Amino acid sequence: MMERALPDKALEYNLSVVRERMAQACVSGGRAPDAVTLLAVTKTVSAERINAALALGVTQIGENRVQEYLGKKDALQLDGVQKHLIGHLQTNKVRQIVGQVDMIQSVDSERLAEAISRVSLERGIVTPVLIEVNIGGEEAKSGVAPDRLEALLENIHALEGIHVNGLMTVPPISTKESEKRAIFSKMYQLFVDNRAKKLDNIDMLELSMGMSGDYVEAILEGSTLVRVGSAIFGARQV
Ligand SMILES: *Cc1c(COP(=O)(O)O)cnc(C)c1O
Repeated sequence: MMERALPDKALEYNLSVVRERMAQACVSGGRAPDAVTLLAVTKTVSAERINAALALGVTQIGENRVQEYLGKKDALQLDGVQKHLIGHLQTNKVRQIVGQVDMIQSVDSERLAEAISRVSLERGIVTPVLIEVNIGGEEAKSGVAPDRLEALLENIHALEGIHVNGLMTVPPISTKESEKRAIFSKMYQLFVDNRAKKLDNIDMLELSMGMSGDYVEAILEGSTLVRVGSAIFGARQV
């Protein structure tokens, strides 16, 4: 029998804290305690530590870089685990990642959506995607501008190799606590407005927002999926 890495105590404790705070935020917001999905962000984390988290019941993981993910993937115990690409994706990496993850959360242009659709169709699959929105309007950040979102959805909704499942955002790092909720609330409004339009092939089911420093605020403003890295695995060495 294959031996599993011993779940590390700190990891177990961190996970229980995150799950508890998530459940409390859900209840505070009038939702079921398990209404929000926890995605563990595993960038820079070793395969061994990721497997320890999976053994502790983590069911969703997210990686930023195609190369790093593909390099670790074969060492992971991924039965029943949903894998997400959450980092910026260059069109020249699309061939490598399509079919290797269950969802690509970082689609922000027609060109990228078309590339993912084309490769998916070649491979006989449909790739679920989220549209990344640059809610803070930062110059250098990936994500579609909020006022371009509607046009983007209209331009890509007929693509047969992708299925749009919702929206994702990374708010500006510098945002103050007090402004965070306003930003998340603006994002939730975009989500609800576009959900009401009921475009073919677009289901606004997931609103991916909230990271280690702000997942409680994101949940209070309507997030359905939080992406938490350092609060689970500890600070990243960079
Ligand atoms: C790194 C990262 C996260 C997690 O960040 P933490 O602050 O460590 O929780 C979430 N989303 C994206 C897109 C990231 O790149």
